[in-house]
Amino acid sequence: MRKKIVAGNWKMNKTVEEAVALAEGIKRELADCKVVDVVVCPPFTALKAVSDVLSETMIKLGAQNMCAEDDGPYTGEISHTMLRELFVRYVILGHSERREYFGETDELVNRKVHKALEKNLRPIVCVGEKLEQREAGETEAVVERQVRGSLAGVAPESFNELVIAYEPVWAIGTGRTATAEQAQEVHAFIRRVVADMAGEAAAAAVRIQYGGSVKPNNAAELFACPDIDGGLIGGASLEVNSFVAIVKAAIELQK
Ligand code: PEP
Repeated sequence: MRKKIVAGNWKMNKTVEEAVALAEGIKRELADCKVVDVVVCPPFTALKAVSDVLSETMIKLGAQNMCAEDDGPYTGEISHTMLRELFVRYVILGHSERREYFGETDELVNRKVHKALEKNLRPIVCVGEKLEQREAGETEAVVERQVRGSLAGVAPESFNELVIAYEPVWAIGTGRTATAEQAQEVHAFIRRVVADMAGEAAAAAVRIQYGGSVKPNNAAELFACPDIDGGLIGGASLEVNSFVAIVKAAIELQK
């Protein structure tokens, strides 16, 4: 059975002080959580402070992006070394907001994925269709292209390390969630694509999170689907009670 993973993407929110308060609240409730992997992804500016709060807990630290290069003249970028130094374990790559507003392509995301894996950071690789693509019946074609492009050349055994986040763009931050049925259908499809790329063992091992307006009231139904291995949470991860309630929904299902 795959271990569920719930990650909070705090996006461009929280000052250092606010981030510490949020991390402290999550720590109070989930410091010893072992049955589910809990990850928080603060903005870069708060990574050090949150890392200090979460040291000696089971809660893992994630970053929201990473440069594909090692070091050097890349103004404004953050490297794997800088992340590892702060005990970051996961890194969100290819989030739809990075693809949409910062021009990230599957080719660039693929380079970042390889760099992260090489440096022992676990990528959370985001894919998902836009509303007009879903309405045009292109969901599977779009998602397949992103999965194959973003994960090209990844060794079968590395699918244990990485996480795929299926995030329909029309459900992100909109309050509009994919139904559990819609999400499960795409998750099962992604698993078939991974099987074709890297074999059945890789497909059975890879964890696929759902993201897009996951809230305490819909988390259990989504996470109960056979191919949904947890969630990537935006808005509801910015507040202790809602994030903890979502993690607890995942914990219940692991019992
Ligand atoms: C996200 O951006 O990864 C996300 C899922 O956001 P929200 O939960 O706010 O829809």
